[in-house]
Amino acid sequence: MYKCRFLLLSVITMLAFPSFSQSASAVRKAKKDSPVALTQEIAQVVAKDSQQMIEVFKDLHANPELGFMETRTAGIVAKELKAFGFEVKEGIGITGVAGILRNGPGPVVMYRADMDCNSVKETTGLPYASTKIVRKKDGSETPVMHACGHDAHTTWLMGVARVMVQMKSKWQGTLVMIAQPAEEPILGAEAMVKDGLYTKHAVPEPDYLLGMHTAPIPLGLLVAAKGVRMAGTDQIDVTFKGIGGHGSSPQVTKDPIVMAAAAIMQYQVIVSRAIDPQKAAVLTVGSVQSGSDNNVIPSTALVKINLRWFDENDRKLMVDGIRRINEGIVKAYNLPDSMMPSMVMKGWSYPLNNSDTLTSWVVDGLRTIVPDKNIIREDRFPAVMGSEDFHHLVVHNTKKNYCYINIGTANLELFDAAVKAGKQVPFNSHNGDYQVDPNAIPFGIRAASAALLEVFKQR
Ligand SMILES: [Zn+2]
Ligand SMILES: [Zn+2]
Repeated sequence: MYKCRFLLLSVITMLAFPSFSQSASAVRKAKKDSPVALTQEIAQVVAKDSQQMIEVFKDLHANPELGFMETRTAGIVAKELKAFGFEVKEGIGITGVAGILRNGPGPVVMYRADMDCNSVKETTGLPYASTKIVRKKDGSETPVMHACGHDAHTTWLMGVARVMVQMKSKWQGTLVMIAQPAEEPILGAEAMVKDGLYTKHAVPEPDYLLGMHTAPIPLGLLVAAKGVRMAGTDQIDVTFKGIGGHGSSPQVTKDPIVMAAAAIMQYQVIVSRAIDPQKAAVLTVGSVQSGSDNNVIPSTALVKINLRWFDENDRKLMVDGIRRINEGIVKAYNLPDSMMPSMVMKGWSYPLNNSDTLTSWVVDGLRTIVPDKNIIREDRFPAVMGSEDFHHLVVHNTKKNYCYINIGTANLELFDAAVKAGKQVPFNSHNGDYQVDPNAIPFGIRAASAALLEVFKQR
């Protein structure tokens, strides 16, 4: 599983903003600010359905689905979009959904939400907590929960669709809604594109792409920053091939566990010795799987590697370095070339790089619903080593304008209590206690709608 994207984000956020509790009280006061007419209309439209959307969110939370298994969730999204007059395409990249709403001449604006959950056991104790156990493709069973807030993302998408339909007279162009599968393994966006999102399924290529992620910072704060925001990533599986045998007779075996152990230690030298120390890169081995008995030398050892990088040359240094170390180990253990370790490149993404102009329009939209000081920009929030595949919906297109923002979704009282207890945040994503304040559902719908209307207005 693809862990800890927002753990890093939230920790760095807190380092950059030690006084979030002060910001939380500013959020409460800001609610009294006088909104502009359009903002009032958005708020009224959202308020009408907010309780119903919160129920939708709780239902999705109680029924989480892992990547490429989101059939129930996708069905709910497709039904909702159809009911609101969208032209809907289903089963793109296995479970992806696209909804198209044509509303006269103007730009094509795409809004994306991810639908998948995590292999994490829920510990929140919420009345709508997940108790689901899922059988994975490898046959193993795992508890699952929405520990990354994708249930909120999917609900926001449906809520925004409602607002944009009801406010059709306020914008012109084409709105494309994307409910994407499998963000966690960084596979779903590419899967939708490769399955003919823009060809076979004839979804119009967007001029602009927007998306939002929950963050465990106070509800009412947002992060909307220009430029490089998140690292590129690779998931690589290396399998060492040996010759198994009795644990008492290692001389007649080729022990893949020893090879894997040697490789893991040598991999760490790539980042410390080959990458410019002033540049950020990470090589983590997240899983080693081999053998089962004390006295049996197995015949294979699987090593699961995760890379993070901002520079493609650094990515190449790490991938080439892993390959050379593997080759060296085959030589050192006197194995033939035919027993070279396999190296499978799995999900990956480029660094996420928010378009300057589009981000400034999004900020203009957000400023209509929160005071400027509640919008955290690039000067107050450094790029993080976390990653996303959101932008892979457009990175291969001629137009690559995209903006990905974060919405504070932590309950204010829980946040204040956590700060008083000396914690940085009340909970982190990918942990069993991660939770989204239900009030963040209408807030997120308002934020996304305001941003979308501003982007349509700019053309
Ligand atoms: Zn996640
Ligand atoms: Zn996520």
